[in-house]
Amino acid sequence: MGKFRDRKSFSRRTFATALAGAGTLAPLRAQPAPQNPPAPHKRQAPEEISPFGETIAFKRKDMPARVEPFEMTEVRLLPGAFKHAQDANLAYLRRLDADRLLHNFRVNAGLPSSAQPLGGWEKPDCELRGHFVGHYLSACALMYSSTGDGKLRDTGAYIVAELAKCQQKLGGGYLSAFPTEFFDRLNRREKVWAPFYTIHKIMAGLFDTHQHCGNRQALEVLEGMANWADNWTGAIPEPHMQEVLNTEYGGMNDVLYNLAAATGNDRYAAVGDRFTKKWFFNPLALRRDELRGLHVNTHIPQVIGAARRYEISGDMRFHDVADFFWYEVTSARTYVTGGTSNAELWRVEPRHLGEELKLSSNTNECCCAYNMLKLTRHLHRWTADPRYFDYYERTLYNHRLGAIDIENGATQYYLSIVSGAWRTFSKENDSFWCCTGTGVEEFAKLNSSIYFHDGDGVFVNLFIPSEAHWRQKGIKIHQETNFPESPGTALVIGTSKAVNMPLRLRIPYWVGREASVRVNGKLLEAAPSPGSYLTIARTWRDGDRIELDMPMHLHIEAMPDEPTTQAVLYGPLVLAGKLGADGLTEDMIINHAGPDVAHHPMEVPEFRASSGPDSWLEQIAGESLAFRTKGQQRDVTFVPFNRVSKERYSIYWTVNESA
Ligand SMILES: [Zn+2]
Repeated sequence: MGKFRDRKSFSRRTFATALAGAGTLAPLRAQPAPQNPPAPHKRQAPEEISPFGETIAFKRKDMPARVEPFEMTEVRLLPGAFKHAQDANLAYLRRLDADRLLHNFRVNAGLPSSAQPLGGWEKPDCELRGHFVGHYLSACALMYSSTGDGKLRDTGAYIVAELAKCQQKLGGGYLSAFPTEFFDRLNRREKVWAPFYTIHKIMAGLFDTHQHCGNRQALEVLEGMANWADNWTGAIPEPHMQEVLNTEYGGMNDVLYNLAAATGNDRYAAVGDRFTKKWFFNPLALRRDELRGLHVNTHIPQVIGAARRYEISGDMRFHDVADFFWYEVTSARTYVTGGTSNAELWRVEPRHLGEELKLSSNTNECCCAYNMLKLTRHLHRWTADPRYFDYYERTLYNHRLGAIDIENGATQYYLSIVSGAWRTFSKENDSFWCCTGTGVEEFAKLNSSIYFHDGDGVFVNLFIPSEAHWRQKGIKIHQETNFPESPGTALVIGTSKAVNMPLRLRIPYWVGREASVRVNGKLLEAAPSPGSYLTIARTWRDGDRIELDMPMHLHIEAMPDEPTTQAVLYGPLVLAGKLGADGLTEDMIINHAGPDVAHHPMEVPEFRASSGPDSWLEQIAGESLAFRTKGQQRDVTFVPFNRVSKERYSIYWTVNESA
C-alpha cells in the first residue's frame, strides 16, 4: 500500500518486450520445462492508438465460463498445512473485537463509542481507517463459507447492522470511518492517502457478506454506498475524473461490476466504468508493457475489475487488458516465489529482475500475490487452461502458505527475498496493514480453487487434503494426500449411484515423464503430459480410488537477466538455504514500527555446479524434503521456503559452472 504517491509513473517508458532479456538463457538451466504460461490473446482488430477512447458504453452480455470453481460451501479442508493456516486465521478473526473495529465509524457518524481504538492503520488519525473493517467483513463471510463458522457470520451481521446505523446518521449513502472532507481533497487533487481504496474494501466486505451469508442488509448498505459513489463521480467531468484516478482506488470498478451482476442493475456498471484509468489500460490492450515505475498493488485490482467487466459485457478490450497484464506480470515481473513488486513498484524493464532485486529488501508485497491469485482465477474460468494453476500453485506454496504464523494468525507484509532476510509479521491489534487485510481474506478461502467443474465433470487443480461435495451430481471426492511430503495424491469417490463423468487431473509443469495414474490399483495406459489435464472418463462407483503419482525433481530457475543468479526448486517448492538465527531476536520478527523490513543483503556462499542442481545438491536421507549441498566450500542445508521461519534464509544464489 503506497503512501501518498500520485502515481502517474515517475519513469513511464515504452519498450519492445521482445528485446528485453534476449539471449540470457541460463547455462545451467535444468531439465524440466520451465513454467510455460498461456500466451496472451492476439488482437484481431488493427492496432488502435487508444482502444479506450472518449466514451466507454456499457452493454450487458454475460459471457459463459468454460469452468467454474466449486462453491466454497462444497469444499472442506482436511488436516494439513492449509487447514492449520485456516485455523490460525479463524482464531485470529474470532479474537478481534467488533466494537473496537466499529469505533472510528461510530465516531465519524457522531454516534457514541466507548471502545478502545485500534492501532496501526486503524488508528483514529490514520487516513485509511476503516479499510480493515471491510477486509474483516469479507474474511468473516469467506470463512463462513469455508467452514460454516456461525460465530463469524453473526459477528459480520452485527457489524453490518451497526454500519447501517452509521450510514443512516450520515444521510443514507456515504459510509466511512473518515469524513467526506477526504473526498474534497481528492477532488481538489490535494494530499490525501487513498479514500476510494478504503471505500472499495468496505463495499467489497458488504458484497461478500451478502454473497456468502445471504445478508440482505449488507446489500442495502452497499447499494446506498454505490448510489453515493454514482453521485460523487457523476458530478465530475470525465477528464478530471481521469486525474482523480491517479490516486489509488483499489478495485472500485470490480465491486461495482459485481454489484451490477448481482442486482441486474446496469447503472452500477456504468459507475464502474468511470473507474477505467485509460492511460493504464490503453497500452495493455495493445499488449505493451509500460508498467515500469507503477505502484503494483494500485494496479492489479484495476485489472481484476477489467476481467470482471469482460465477463459481464464481452468487451474484448477489457479481456485483452487482463489477459496481457497477467501474462506479462507472471512471465516478466515475477520472482521465483510467485511474488511481484520491489518497494511496492515495478522498478525495471521487463525481465530485469536480477537488477530489480538489488534495489531494495522490501520485495513481494503480499497484497500483490493475493490479487494476482484472484486475477488468475478469472482467466482460468475463461479458458480451463491448467497452466494457470502452475502459477497459482507456485504462488500459493511459496508466497502465501509461509506468510502466516500459525501460532497466532499474524501475517506478513513484504516477503523479502534478499540474502539473509527473515520473515517479519504483523501485531495482533496494532498493524492492520493492507496485507493484514488481504491476509485474513486469503487464509479464509484456501478451499476456493482446489476443484473446478464444467457441465460434465470435475477438474482437480490442487493437491490439498480436502473433501468436495458436488451436490448437483451427488458425488463426493475425498482427497487424501500429504503432498508435497509425498509426491502424489489419492482421490476416493463417494456416491450412492453410478455416475458417468470425466475427471480431469492437473498434471503440473514440474512433473517429469514418470507421472502415472492408477484407478483401483490398475495402472492407466496414459502418458500424463506436464502442463495439461489428464482426463479419466468412466462410470464412477462408490469407493473408486484414483492415485496420481508425480515424482519431483530438483530444477533451477535463473534470473532472466543474470544467468548465474539461480534459485532451486523441488517440484513446485522453492527451496531456501537455512542461514541460522544468529543475532535474531523475537523483537526483530515483529514489525513494531511499520511494515518495512530492515534486511541488508548478507554475504552468502557461491556454489559450483558441473551440470544441473543434482551435481551440487543431494537429498538428506531420512528427512522429508531436506537437501544439502555437496562438494562446496561451505555447505548449506535447503528446505522448502514455506517452512523457514524465525531464521535467516537465502533464495537466490550465485552458481557458476565448475571448471
Ligand atoms: Zn499490502
